[in-house]
This record gives sequence, structure tokens and C-alpha cells, in this order.
Amino acid sequence: MPAAARAVRAFVAAHGREPTLLVRSPARVNLIGEHTDYNDGLCLPVAIDRELCIALRRTDDVAAGADPAAGAHLRLVSEQDPTPAVIELPPPPADTPPSARATGWTRYVQGVAVQLAASGQLAASGQPAGADLVPWQGALASDIPLGAGLSSSAALELAVAVACTHLAGSVPAPTELARLAQRAENAWVGAATGLLDQLACVGGIAGHALRIDCRTLTVTPVPLPAGLAVVVIDTGSRRELVTSAYADRRAECERAARALGVPALRDLDALPADAASRLDPVALRRARFVIAENARVDAVAEALTRGDAEAAGRLLLAGHRGIRDDFEVSGPELDAAVAAAYAAPGCFGARMTGGGFAGCAVALVDRARLEAFTETFEPAYFARTGREAVLHVCSAVAGTSVTVLPDE
Ligand code: ADP
Ligand code: MG
Repeated sequence: MPAAARAVRAFVAAHGREPTLLVRSPARVNLIGEHTDYNDGLCLPVAIDRELCIALRRTDDVAAGADPAAGAHLRLVSEQDPTPAVIELPPPPADTPPSARATGWTRYVQGVAVQLAASGQLAASGQPAGADLVPWQGALASDIPLGAGLSSSAALELAVAVACTHLAGSVPAPTELARLAQRAENAWVGAATGLLDQLACVGGIAGHALRIDCRTLTVTPVPLPAGLAVVVIDTGSRRELVTSAYADRRAECERAARALGVPALRDLDALPADAASRLDPVALRRARFVIAENARVDAVAEALTRGDAEAAGRLLLAGHRGIRDDFEVSGPELDAAVAAAYAAPGCFGARMTGGGFAGCAVALVDRARLEAFTETFEPAYFARTGREAVLHVCSAVAGTSVTVLPDE
């Protein structure tokens, strides 16, 4: 059963009546341009047809049987977690110490409510912060694997943000919503991520990848060739400690930019001739990767636009070598998946995708040869790793959306 139907069913089971709204929020996969967002650089994500859905209904509608004595809450159940997320309204202030914040997945929901209240994104002015947040109850169902690098967290944040803004009657620009969701994840949840995830999730366009300039936040649609499948390979591997490695890479990139005298690595088209004498070996490798990766984003966008999947695939392979050898955030399962994919029929190229070490790889595959690709890839990957990979053959879809459900 699709996630949307499961969300509606779960809503009825949990709340004993029909939902009135359905919010759908896609996963995303990044084709190229990894670890470039916090270097003010370029990336090329695709919003994909694996989605997180929330069926919901406002609870302050007394005529419809709301119980005012029940108080003002956002209350959300998830099929992925037995503990419901319950957020009291108005939400706590944005400077609430971490020890007084919610835990687990509730923190993502609370973070969005907190940032909405703090930002004045909602309609009315002159009211206490958070007064415009409409209480609602919802049920969540999702086909996005958690913690696999397909950004289930951004899908969740954007779904909650769109639910809240829709009920409040406000329609913020997609970039504003993305920034707000990012603040929820960075400042409230405490995960240091760039804006790529949220922009890709909210800004998705059917049939297109999105070239994102992370400095100007300009989003340019890049058409995907009709015969090309984007195959996400979940390697089945997961890693802890990704957060500290992410912080390390960020610091190393900042150190490299400082030593090279630029605000961000984005500002360099090539390594200066004397880079090796100005940078320590680690910073040199990080800078070399980021500079080449930014150039690859434009090269892949151009190749896809002219329908040249072979050229795009070669650039993905080059990107994988760079992130493995210079940026050093690949992992054994990711390397095995890329090698097995590229050796399989119909594959133009592949690379790891997401933060690194584990999780997913992405391959560009000829749609006409998908069956042969899968039949060859699966045993080859198993032979290399002893693990079963899960393949998601994906299409590019629209970003987070809200639909009014027909009256029961
Ligand atoms: P990723 O974004 O790569 O999937 P993250 O660690 O950034 O991984 O985010 C995963 C977290 O997002 C989960 O641990 C959970 O807290 C929250 N989350 C995402 N989807 C759901 C869901 N369907 N139900 C409950 N929580 C979810
Ligand atoms: Mg995430």
C-alpha cells in the first residue's frame, strides 16, 4: 500500500475520524556535488518518488467536534515509532536549553514548530510568538529509509512545516521553508547539515534534477534524459560517528579556504600552483576534492541537458574516486556497490551519495536494461560484501505538497 493510503488509514485508526489534509514530502538523492553545500558550492540533487506522508486534521475546529478542554497540541503518530510526537502550543522559545527539549523524532517536529513561532512566518502580526500555530493531529507513513542518506529528516521537517503554514493560511516561499527546516535541524535538533536536503525536498520538479547554487540559493532545473533511470542502491550499511566526521570535514575545508585567502572553497576554480606549500596535506586533499566536485556539477548538468548519459556517468565515477581518495568519506560497502554497479550491464556510472561512510550509492542506468542490471548487480554486490543491497529505481518528482482531501 502506498505511503499516502497508509497515512490515511493510520489516521483513522489513531483518531477515529477522517483526515482533511494530506501532505506529501519526497526523499532526495544527490547525483553529484557532495560536501559542497557548506563550502558555498554547487550540488545536483533529485527529489525522488519515495515519500513521507502526513494525513492530518486541525483540532481547534469546535463545530467539528473538537474538545477545547483537550488543550492545544500538535500530535503526530508514526508507523516507524511507537512513541507519538506531542508538541504543546505555543512551542518553547528557540533558546530553550537542549536538556529541556523533546527527544527522538519528536525533536524534529518540535524544532519546526519552534522555528515557525520564532520566525514570524505565520500570518498575523502583533500576537505572541506561536499564537498562529493551529493545533492539529496527524498520522505519518513513510517509504523513506531512516538514516540511509535519503534525507528522511528533511522530508519530515518540510512536511510538518507545510502542514503548519497551510493551516495558518500562510504560503512562505520554498527557500524560506527550506531555511526554516534547516534551522530546526541545525539549531534545535543539533545536526550540522547544509541546506541541500531541505531545498531539494521542497523544490523538486518532476522529470528534473536541481542544480543548486548553495551561495545564492539559486535553483536551476536540469532535465533528465527520458531513457535514464536513477537507481538508488541502499548498501544496507549504517555508521555511527558520522556527525563528528562531518564536523571534521567542515573544519578542514574552512582551514583550507582560510589558508588560500578565500571566503569559501567555492571561490576557487583551480588549486593555486603553490597550494602544496600553503596547505597541510589533509587540507590540500579536501580542497582538491571540493574544487573538482563543483566543476563536476556543471559538467554533469551540461551532459544531462544534452542527453549524454555516458558523459554524466563518467563524471559520477570521477566524483566517487575523489570522495574516496581525497575527501576520505567513502566506505567498503559503498566502494563495493559502485564497482559492482559499474560492472553491470546498462550502467553509465555510479558513486556514493549522502554524507558518506555508509548508506546509499546512486547509479545512472539505461532504463531498457534495468532487468539485466539488477540481475547482475545483486549477486555481485553480495559476493563482495556478504550483504543484500536494496535497489530503488527512482523517478524525479515534485517537492513537498499539500492536498485537501475530499469530505468523508
Ligand atoms: P536521514 O535524513 O539520512 O534519513 P537522519 O539521521 O538525518 O537520516 O534523520 C533520521 C531521523 O529522522 C530519524 O531518526 C527520526 O528521528 C526522523 N524520522 C524520519 N522519518 C521518520 C518517520 N517516518 N517516523 C519517525 N521519525 C522519522
Ligand atoms: Mg537527514
